[in-house]
Amino acid sequence: MTATIIDGKKAAERIKARIKAEVAMLKAKPGLAAVLVGENPASKVYVDIKRKTCDEVGVYSELYKLPEETTEKELLHLIDKLNKSERIHAILVQLPLPKHISEENVLKEIAIDKDVDGFSMINVGRLASGEETAVPCTPKGVIRLLEENGIEVAGKNAVVIGRSNIVGKPVAMLLLNRNATVTVCHSKTRQLGEYTKGADILVVAVGKPKLVNGDMIKEGATVIDVGINRIDGKLVGDVDFESAMKKAAYLTPVPGGVGPMTVAMLIENTLERYKEIMGK
Ligand code: NDP
Repeated sequence: MTATIIDGKKAAERIKARIKAEVAMLKAKPGLAAVLVGENPASKVYVDIKRKTCDEVGVYSELYKLPEETTEKELLHLIDKLNKSERIHAILVQLPLPKHISEENVLKEIAIDKDVDGFSMINVGRLASGEETAVPCTPKGVIRLLEENGIEVAGKNAVVIGRSNIVGKPVAMLLLNRNATVTVCHSKTRQLGEYTKGADILVVAVGKPKLVNGDMIKEGATVIDVGINRIDGKLVGDVDFESAMKKAAYLTPVPGGVGPMTVAMLIENTLERYKEIMGK
């Protein structure tokens, strides 16, 4: 078997084109504020891509690049200002934050209707109880790739490797909400391969190159590789692409899989937040 490659770049382009057309019809533009604290090089790249994408689709954006030594109080002050801004409908705080700032304290200050990433406790609780109001962008992108490729989720065995609040847990919730039988694996899981070999849908979100190879994949499975790792300047995922291609029916590449979908979902969520706030 040779897997069909799931093209996240193309899917993201289609979504962005649809949003661009919709935004062009709006008198007042949706506005996204992105806040970056510190010097994390990957975070810098991500916020720049997000900002560029806003420009591409006609979404108004403000980018706040704050120094590493910014205090929690200063950051909360900025969030308060953005909460009150009429130009801003969606607020994104790029994670991780420097160690001296509590992510929890910051995320809970974002106005609930401007919580574009869905990381606030209220939106986490909503998702856990099956209400998908503001869904985190990467997990939403994973589900959209399954939907766009006609991959049935209900009744399937889904295995998610990784249990972070940003990716693993929300992906598991979304799959469960769609009636998959979901197993979540993590660093303490013993015999990882025994779980992955039973997966019809395998989502890998760890950050370890080649954690999963073809021998660990069920023949005909759908494999979504969320991982982003840099090796000698080249981006690779968590799945050994060559051997996985021989076992899976569908496989996402890295780059060009989940990554572009994350950005497209951010823009989609920005538009959703705008509509909610404007009562449209
Ligand atoms: P975290 O580091 O927060 O979480 C990693 C998870 O992997 C943890 O739950 C950890 O388990 C688990 N883990 C670590 N080692 C193993 C192992 N050997 N076997 C099984 N599980 C293991 O990462 P994130 O969730 O934030 O991100 C995961 C990956 O996805 C990263 O590569 C990141 O760069 C990428 N990413 C990609 C995005 C995209 O748009 N494509 C967006 C966001 C992230 P434990 O909980 O026990 O520690």
